[in-house]
Amino acid sequence: MSLEQTYTLMDKFYIPILESLGHCCQNCFKPLANIAIVKGEKDNKTYSIGFDCLETFLLNNALLEGKSIAEFEKAKKSLPKVKNLLHYYSEQIKQLQRVSSMTFEIISSGRWIETYFYSGEKIIWNDSEKIKPDFDIEMLIHSLRAKHQTISFQNITK
Ligand SMILES: [Zn+2]
Repeated sequence: MSLEQTYTLMDKFYIPILESLGHCCQNCFKPLANIAIVKGEKDNKTYSIGFDCLETFLLNNALLEGKSIAEFEKAKKSLPKVKNLLHYYSEQIKQLQRVSSMTFEIISSGRWIETYFYSGEKIIWNDSEKIKPDFDIEMLIHSLRAKHQTISFQNITK
């Protein structure tokens, strides 16, 4: 990757390494689990890179655009919880078998996340676990999308 331009963080998600076959870091070419999509300011191209490279290559060289740094710090802090919840919701999806979509809503003045599992138009499961929204919920949703490509995931928080 070029040192001649700055980069903006476009997206970030996590896929367990065994399920992310084919995803390699475009900076160091290692297989990826923690994936950041960044866009070059000059060439306008997007690159998939690992969190490690983002940190050592982009942050150390001051190539990551300002607002993206805060977003990356939030994503990094959220990673353990995103990993756990990705596994947790994936287990429920596996058990229910016929999930076609899932919604997330932060309710009761931001105290927890309500999740609904749908099969078509019908709600087939409501997870009653009170998960606190103290992490990057978009990163979780993008991780679920990357892992379950036939299911739609939506944050419906108003
Ligand atoms: Zn890398």
